[in-house]
Amino acid sequence: MQIMMVVGAQGGDEGKGKIVDYLASDYDVLIRFQGGNNAAHTVMVEQKPYTLHLVPSGIFRDHTIAFLGNGMVVSPDALKKELDELTEYGVDVSRIYISEKAHILFPHHVLIDNLSDKANGVIDTTRCGIGPAYMDKASREGIRFEDLKHPELLREKLKKILPRINTILKMYDCPPRDFEEEFQRCEEWSRWILPMLKEPVSFMQECLKENKKMLFEGQLGVLRDLDLGTYPYVTSSSPTAAYACAVSGIPIKKVTDIVGVVRAYPILAGNGPFPTEMEESVASVLRGTGEKPDDEYGGTTGRARRIGWLDLSALRYSAGINGYTKIALCKLDKLDDFSEIRVCTHYILDGDRIDYMPDTVELARVRPCYITVPGWEESTRHIRFISDLPKNAQNYIKLIEEAVQAPVVCVGVGPDRDEIAV
Ligand code: GDP
Repeated sequence: MQIMMVVGAQGGDEGKGKIVDYLASDYDVLIRFQGGNNAAHTVMVEQKPYTLHLVPSGIFRDHTIAFLGNGMVVSPDALKKELDELTEYGVDVSRIYISEKAHILFPHHVLIDNLSDKANGVIDTTRCGIGPAYMDKASREGIRFEDLKHPELLREKLKKILPRINTILKMYDCPPRDFEEEFQRCEEWSRWILPMLKEPVSFMQECLKENKKMLFEGQLGVLRDLDLGTYPYVTSSSPTAAYACAVSGIPIKKVTDIVGVVRAYPILAGNGPFPTEMEESVASVLRGTGEKPDDEYGGTTGRARRIGWLDLSALRYSAGINGYTKIALCKLDKLDDFSEIRVCTHYILDGDRIDYMPDTVELARVRPCYITVPGWEESTRHIRFISDLPKNAQNYIKLIEEAVQAPVVCVGVGPDRDEIAV
């Protein structure tokens, strides 16, 4: 039995799409376990970029079954769009299932996210409605996909929750949602969604019994965890490996591998403290103009990403939480031209070295301590074995392995599917 968790080891956009696509060739069932269409996982197939927002990134491997799990908040409209795009590309979407315990993200969640983020402007969310959908889930006023199976009960539920939604909309001077329109919307969704639904726990147990190889795909990274991340600049769920078990109904002891995906240089989308943020003159070179798929612009929002130097302090924190058994490193090739690379080894807070992740206010004022390591100044894009990488690139990898106490087992050396060294 093989159960693998693949999670972001930094603040997201580490390259999980490419890594999951690569690993999926050896797995049967792929499960997304949190978040919604705020994710943007890019997979390059035959030199063309495909950005997946909801469907697990291994779907391009024909033998796999994909499952949108319990912990997700799924917009049926965004899902329909993604399924249509995949079908157009020739992917058999009858292999995709949805947990009936996942929550439905409604258009009013998107509207409220936009209005509240615009009004308070603190977090700079992706404005996809994720926060408001999780708020409804936590307040037990969410609509789950299973509710579509029971139209009369759904009617009652919608009747109960709409007045509160309309009170919120009124606060922002927005017209109220009409009950009949909302119910009709659900009926339309039911027509194509009902055949995709599965009871999740029995599905997971069946996969376990049949010895299926299961790969759980996280979204974002541990620094964006609702509890353990840089609150309030976090997401509304937990992108940790432990959460994949908690939310999916898989016993922890069944997990065989926890793969942390690390970027050779971290990025931050949106607001929040970022101690190792680079000077703009260097960041702009890595960011590019947005014409290439691996330029640093948000896959969902198109926003220019903030870029930083490798932060071993943050990586140690991340490894402590997730307990990686393996590391997949991405975007090493983007550092190919650097003659020198800075690496943060620890933080100084108010004059003292600290070996923990301070609170968000303190994190904003820590001083990162750097070492400068020599670059390799040659292209790595053609290399397919880690042992063939230039010596200085291997030394860079060793710094990561020492920090997280786990081996780097694959290294992305370009955006394309086969640009990977193992
Ligand atoms: P995710 O959100 O963690 O899945 O990360 P993304 O899908 O946003 O990946 C970021 C971008 O980096 C995508 O456009 C990928 O094609 C690209 N990418 C992933 N791995 C590599 C790599 O090793 N090298 C280069 N140059 N680009 C990569």
